[in-house]
Amino acid sequence: MPVAPRGEPELRRRRIDRISGPGWCDRSAVGKARSVKTIWVLGDQLNTRLGALAEADPSTHRVLLVESLAKIASKRWHRQRAHFVIASMRRFAAELESAGFEVDLRRADSLRGGFHEHVEAHGPDEVLATEPASWDGLEMLRSLDVTIVRSNQFLCHYDEFADWAAGKKSFKMENFYRWQRERLDYLMDDDGEPEGGRWNFDDENREPPPKGDENPWSDPETSQLDDLDRKVIDDLERAATDAGGELWGAEPDGTWATSRRAALSRLRHFVDDVLPQFGPHEDAMVRRSWHLAHSVLSPYMNIGLLLPGEVCDAVQDAYDEGRVPINSAEGFIRQVIGWREYVWGVYWLWMPDYRSMNALGADRALPPAFTGAASTEMNCVSNCIDTLHDKAYNHHIQRLMVLGNLGMLHGVDPWAMTDWMWANFIDGAEWVMLPNVIGMSQWADGGKMATKPYAAGGNYIDKMSDYCKECRFDRKQRTGDDACPFTTLYWDFLARHHDRFVKNPRIARQVRASEKLSDLPAVRERAVEVRQLLDDGRL
Ligand SMILES: Cc1cc2nc3c(=O)[nH]c(=O)nc-3n(C[C@H](O)[C@H](O)[C@H](O)COP(=O)(O)OP(=O)(O)OC[C@H]3O[C@@H](n4cnc5c(N)ncnc54)[C@H](O)[C@@H]3O)c2cc1C
Ligand code: SF4
Repeated sequence: MPVAPRGEPELRRRRIDRISGPGWCDRSAVGKARSVKTIWVLGDQLNTRLGALAEADPSTHRVLLVESLAKIASKRWHRQRAHFVIASMRRFAAELESAGFEVDLRRADSLRGGFHEHVEAHGPDEVLATEPASWDGLEMLRSLDVTIVRSNQFLCHYDEFADWAAGKKSFKMENFYRWQRERLDYLMDDDGEPEGGRWNFDDENREPPPKGDENPWSDPETSQLDDLDRKVIDDLERAATDAGGELWGAEPDGTWATSRRAALSRLRHFVDDVLPQFGPHEDAMVRRSWHLAHSVLSPYMNIGLLLPGEVCDAVQDAYDEGRVPINSAEGFIRQVIGWREYVWGVYWLWMPDYRSMNALGADRALPPAFTGAASTEMNCVSNCIDTLHDKAYNHHIQRLMVLGNLGMLHGVDPWAMTDWMWANFIDGAEWVMLPNVIGMSQWADGGKMATKPYAAGGNYIDKMSDYCKECRFDRKQRTGDDACPFTTLYWDFLARHHDRFVKNPRIARQVRASEKLSDLPAVRERAVEVRQLLDDGRL
């Protein structure tokens, strides 16, 4: 694989200072004047360089963080997910305190309630907050007496995205990504051309899993749990029980960092030990590794412990120093400045209607095999659910081609899929889930996000994983008790939505192939049984 030459210092200077602000404040200022303004920091804005906090000073500002009981009670959260957010908030509050800030870390019935209680207790002259990442957060802030500071949590604000998209009849992630790369000067050579002579190295990044037991992927770093973690775990169990709800999944085990320091260490580990392997097996799934060469950095970027610019800078530096090949660096930077930012942009462009889209009229409940209420003999699904249970994480292709795929083929209500993934994925948030779940995985937006539905039968899963060879089902069979449920439901899906997809050039060939199946009536009959078995948790 080609390895990058060392980068020119000029390249580094040309890059914009993406996140401005002083960072940690000067402790010498503490106590010189009474705090008069409050900065309300939401649970996914845990970084001193963000928005309102970037200009804060302990002598003039105090900080409010609210742990909302309503939020804890609102879903059946994965334990690790709930712990990740609350422990990170508490650590961030402690860090702000040691930097000299007065911090009001408050438990309240709701975010709104916490705000009112804080105002009553402290009477701030003004409350400032950084623009939230998701729609409901912004609506809430707008309904309160809060000054909203523009977000710098993404490299492309959604206003800039809307300007980029304006006037385009249709737009694609690829075009946005190229625009971002040029604008942000990532992996561009001195002549303004993409490094390595190409914008895209995807064709080197779709390899099936390596055969045998080879496990070359370095494990992510872990942290020791401390007293703060244990207190959060106890508090969450109690809060969930008091609210009449419950948590799901394995206890926190130190996989997920809950401080900026630990998140930065995870980033270094990824760049040094994992990034050189990122890419080739991006779409592969193996039982022997839950992470392969994925970064597992999304949760940190999504709550502010890491900023996307510094993550990409670290990757660019590694490339400049010749430590990673171009396909790995490009593959990763594409995900962050391309997909991640695109998803944020389209979310704001298409909300609020986007949330309720259901183009395929899907209305079934989640299969009990997803929620843990039933076990399953489908090897692919059981591996993904076991990983979800243990780590609150699945990598992209498991989310898209196993869980999402089955949800769409089965006809699960898209919002039920979204809500379930949101509660369980360590990196869940509405802005990122809607385009990915409603759009990409369920095709519920009628093709705004993905030009074709990501539907696949057992053959695809077999090609990209080691799941099928030890499964009790046969990926090649479409009918009968041993038929792979994915294969049966795939053909049924194409037949069921024949008229909608037969003119779609990206999937028309498969739709035509379904017309020609001699056993199509039997496949469709078996699909009815499969759906019932899935609903009953008996598959
Ligand atoms: C059905 C479905 C649900 C998803 N739910 C979430 C979610 O709740 N939260 C979330 O952050 N991502 C979600 N994604 C996108 C993607 O799967 C995750 O970002 C990725 O798996 C996170 O793991 P990683 O950090 O190891 O990713 P890597 O493979 O290491 O990728 C690097 C980074 O690129 C970004 N990225 C890559 N693809 C996407 C994408 N499609 N959308 C947004 N960011 C992307 C992430 O920040 C990620 O950390 C979902 C995708 C699908 C298909
Ligand atoms: S045979 Fe079908 S159900 Fe079994 S692992 Fe393969 S795709 Fe999954």
